[in-house]
Amino acid sequence: MACGEFELIQRYFTERQTKRRDVIKSIGDDCALVQANPEQLLAVSTDTLVSGVHFFEDIPAHALGFKALAANLSDLAAMGANPAWVSLALTLPQIDEAWVSDFSDGFFKAADYYGIELIGGDMSKGPLSVTITVQGQVNKDQQMLRSNARIGDWICVTGNLGDSALGLQALLGNVQLSESDSAAAVKKHYYPTPRLLAGHALRTIASSAIDISDGLASDLGHIAKQSGCMAVVDVDALPLSELLTNNVSSDEALRLALSGGEDYELCFTVSPAALGSIESALMHTNTPFACIGQMQSGEGVNFQRDNQTLNHQFKGFEHF
Ligand SMILES: [Mg+2]
Repeated sequence: MACGEFELIQRYFTERQTKRRDVIKSIGDDCALVQANPEQLLAVSTDTLVSGVHFFEDIPAHALGFKALAANLSDLAAMGANPAWVSLALTLPQIDEAWVSDFSDGFFKAADYYGIELIGGDMSKGPLSVTITVQGQVNKDQQMLRSNARIGDWICVTGNLGDSALGLQALLGNVQLSESDSAAAVKKHYYPTPRLLAGHALRTIASSAIDISDGLASDLGHIAKQSGCMAVVDVDALPLSELLTNNVSSDEALRLALSGGEDYELCFTVSPAALGSIESALMHTNTPFACIGQMQSGEGVNFQRDNQTLNHQFKGFEHF
């Protein structure tokens, strides 16, 4: 049976709520009302995903629902913020209840797991797009900015780089993988893990942080620029999975790791004195990490092998 916007919202979003005590008024009034805390900062981030630009039209709705929220949660992780509230604006070409049901399943898989409550949004007709605004909280003076890296700080990344990009190449038919490797890479592409626990653990120790959405080359470049230093990276120290290195040439593995994007890992800097604290803090959250370089005086990002600068220019994803 066909149903309208309000029935769809009621059935697939209002009734599936995660309940938080600090939400005074959720979906259903002109605004959501949440209890603000004077000791904390509100971290807010909005992202729009457009069909044909950020994802393929045939992406499974469940994967789109999960990934759209996970990508936004990753921005909260990069600030050291704890997720609290989310708004969702969905534009659909037509009402397809089975699609909305799958999208909602994927969305709430992430929302329930990470404890974020959907407090409002909008639905309209048009080309498929998803706009999400997440809000989280971080204690005053504990937020991680891109601008606080210092000369001498170590540069580190969580997890592995390039697996999501390998999944995208597999979906595009540009690489031939075994069935199990293809499934593993596509899963990395569709279901990224936002590093919220790691972000929370790092927030009092790391000097700066960013999440890797456009590719390490581009995202580390933001830290270098905003901190007024040069990031020097040893490409042989990059954490690459066997999934990646077994399936593509070493040059292609490097390209996917540095420019592929959508890893949603954290790249952070830490003073040499605090490196030991990072090791124990991340061990407690079960997060693997690797030191890949050091901040030096200068500007930009310099990729090196055996202390020699690589000539290749690595670029991240850019919209325009
Ligand atoms: Mg980000």
